[in-house]
Amino acid sequence: ESKKTRNTTIYFKDSIKERVLYDSELGQELKYGLERNEFYMLYQPKVNAQGVIKGVEALVRWQNQALGFVGPDKFIPIAESTGDMVAIGDFVIDKSLADIAAFNCHSDTPLVLSVNISVKQFLHPDFIEKLTHSLQSANFEPCNLIIEITETLFIEDIFGINETLAQVKRLGVQISLDDFGTGYSSLNLLTKLPIDELKIDKSFVDDILVDANAKSMAEGIIAIGKKLDLIVVAEGVETIGQLSELVDMGCDIYQGYYFAKPLSVDDLEAFCGDKITT
Ligand code: C2E
Ligand code: CA
Ligand code: CA
Ligand code: CA
Repeated sequence: ESKKTRNTTIYFKDSIKERVLYDSELGQELKYGLERNEFYMLYQPKVNAQGVIKGVEALVRWQNQALGFVGPDKFIPIAESTGDMVAIGDFVIDKSLADIAAFNCHSDTPLVLSVNISVKQFLHPDFIEKLTHSLQSANFEPCNLIIEITETLFIEDIFGINETLAQVKRLGVQISLDDFGTGYSSLNLLTKLPIDELKIDKSFVDDILVDANAKSMAEGIIAIGKKLDLIVVAEGVETIGQLSELVDMGCDIYQGYYFAKPLSVDDLEAFCGDKITT
């Protein structure tokens, strides 16, 4: 089939068919991504109200030979359904633990590392065993690791999840509830989970100055966080206006383009070398 025919065919296909085609090619390419070393990690700074960096969130990137750059919002749901997310997740944990362990070696104040854990990865029977092993091989202080989970996890059997969360805590690793306020969890659930941190979803931060409901959500999450003695993180902070609103509300930690985009290890070193001003 010539290139021309193929393009013409795609041109006349409706967008749903086109997407199915793209997704299946993406699914095929995903299978070889790890062995081709197409995945890499970036680290986005998390700072306190004084603008001092306290930690980073590890964010995976995929530069594919055929499809070019594909964002995690696009490929992670597909990797979850093809079963490839477990291996990608293992790479994410091992690579980011190694990178930040090396970083912390030559730094006076260690950075806390946050790693996103997908549902399939968390529910995998070997998750705890692999996490234990990864911490040991990277020689990484467990209390400097936070795993970020989302409320989508709790559609699954809550009993098994709570047991795994308890095992994570026994390792000394901290737990963060990501995208808080966008999902299903009731406030009641919050009191039953062994979590350490709540992340206010970017959608609330986006609208904090223009939408009274978004502002109320942010205020409510910070208030609950304080009551339950949790660290509250605001993500997606892009402007000084959003920042000062959140500072006034008493938010603990801030993350967003206002401070830094996700950075390579080299750029992270440069960022930490610079004086940070709020
Ligand atoms: P998330 O965990 O909610 O991560 C925050 C996302 O917001 C990241 O997008 C980050 O780059 C972006 N972001 C941070 N600050 C700002 C800002 O000020 N403005 C804007 N416009 N965006 C900002 P990213 O890296 O594209 O990741 C998207 C999602 O993909 C993540 O959302 C997370 O759910 C997932 N993801 C990314 N990396 C991983 C990973 O290593 N493992 C797993 N399981 N999921 C990951
Ligand atoms: Ca996250
Ligand atoms: Ca988030
Ligand atoms: Ca998000």
